[in-house]
Amino acid sequence: MAGRNFLFVPGPTNVPDRVLRAMHRAMEDHRSSDFPALAAPVLENLKKIFKTKSGHAVVFPSSGTGAWEASLSNTLSPGNKVLASRFGMFSHLWIDMAQRLGLQVEVIDAEWGEGAPIERYREALVADRSHAFKAVLFTHNETATGVTSDVAAIRRVLNDAGHPALLMVDGVSSIGSIDFRMDEWGVDLAITGSQKGLMLPAGLGIVCASQKALALSESAKLPRAFFDFGDMLKANTTGYFPYTPSLPLLYGLRESIDMLMEEGLENVFARHHRLAQGTRLAIQAWQLELCARSPQWYSNTVSAIMVPPGFNGAEVIDVAYRRYNLSLGAGLARMAGRLFRIGHLGDVNELMLMGAIAGAEMAMRDVGIKVTPGSGVAAAGEYWRSTAAPLARRELPPRAPDSQPAPSPGAKGKATAGAGR
Ligand SMILES: *Cc1c(COP(=O)(O)O)cnc(C)c1O
Repeated sequence: MAGRNFLFVPGPTNVPDRVLRAMHRAMEDHRSSDFPALAAPVLENLKKIFKTKSGHAVVFPSSGTGAWEASLSNTLSPGNKVLASRFGMFSHLWIDMAQRLGLQVEVIDAEWGEGAPIERYREALVADRSHAFKAVLFTHNETATGVTSDVAAIRRVLNDAGHPALLMVDGVSSIGSIDFRMDEWGVDLAITGSQKGLMLPAGLGIVCASQKALALSESAKLPRAFFDFGDMLKANTTGYFPYTPSLPLLYGLRESIDMLMEEGLENVFARHHRLAQGTRLAIQAWQLELCARSPQWYSNTVSAIMVPPGFNGAEVIDVAYRRYNLSLGAGLARMAGRLFRIGHLGDVNELMLMGAIAGAEMAMRDVGIKVTPGSGVAAAGEYWRSTAAPLARRELPPRAPDSQPAPSPGAKGKATAGAGR
């Protein structure tokens, strides 16, 4: 097929050219004396993305699922009770993992499309006078249903109840795209992966652990080897890894952190909000419903769009892919066939997203869903026009460092890092 693929699944997300170039390197010796100069600042700078000063970032060569496992296995012991809610495929899978690891999970089931049930967490925690729950599992952004929950609220519930359980938060599809405040919210284990807001290929499972979580890891008895915090921290202290890290992904991560910092995290969050809002207006113009039941839960990284009864969401996705080279996210588990998802996170702008909205509109009409042609595109476009930043001068992107001639002695002018996106 001519032209580019439009990748709008909620992970893996589009990898910016700048990150692709940063990853395009020959392999190096990860035991060399130079290696810590790459690894140590990356581990330190990652903490800014999580908004933590006191936490410790740990990077495993795994996907986000590995970061779930690391969080559970480093801090808990067999038979420990944990409290979790289930309202989508990802919160379900994390619970399933906890059970398979030998934990006793008290599950609060909520409707798929609703956010984490804060008041039911409160009831369970207040009733737990003996503090049997050792951890609370909380999915910040449920990617399967396009629902964002209130982490600050679960922290307040723990504080109000005077409950010492660890707060573990799955931020895989929020961190780096939706505001996340590890220290302020008292998160003990904040979990993400490389292929969502961090705009990288899959392959890194990232956990930020609080001092409380690290202290518990000394007595936690669940078996672990590959995911052991102790081995990792010991090697990280000198800027090394206990086993072979993925060099390209570390170079890519260094670049993507730089990009997020250059744009400014608050601007990144505002961009995601604005893009999501335009998408939601398109969905409204199609007269379709989001899976998310109420605006308080609308996700700024993914919209899950219910198809009308009698239609199959999987067919929309297949037509979009085969006919228009557009990749949309599938409905998972009990949502299979009932919805399709547009991921709007990572390296995305208005017109890229316009491609996804236009393609979804065309594919829906192809399978017989009666949306008005152009309605979604018009609604999103008018919103983005009306909320666009004032026109500013555009600077040429700085030259890539590799293409710069060596400075002649005495030459002035400041060195610039990186090329444009
Ligand atoms: C993507 C995702 C994960 C982890 O998935 P991996 O495929 O293991 O990286 C976990 N939780 C949420 C909310 C996700 O969106």
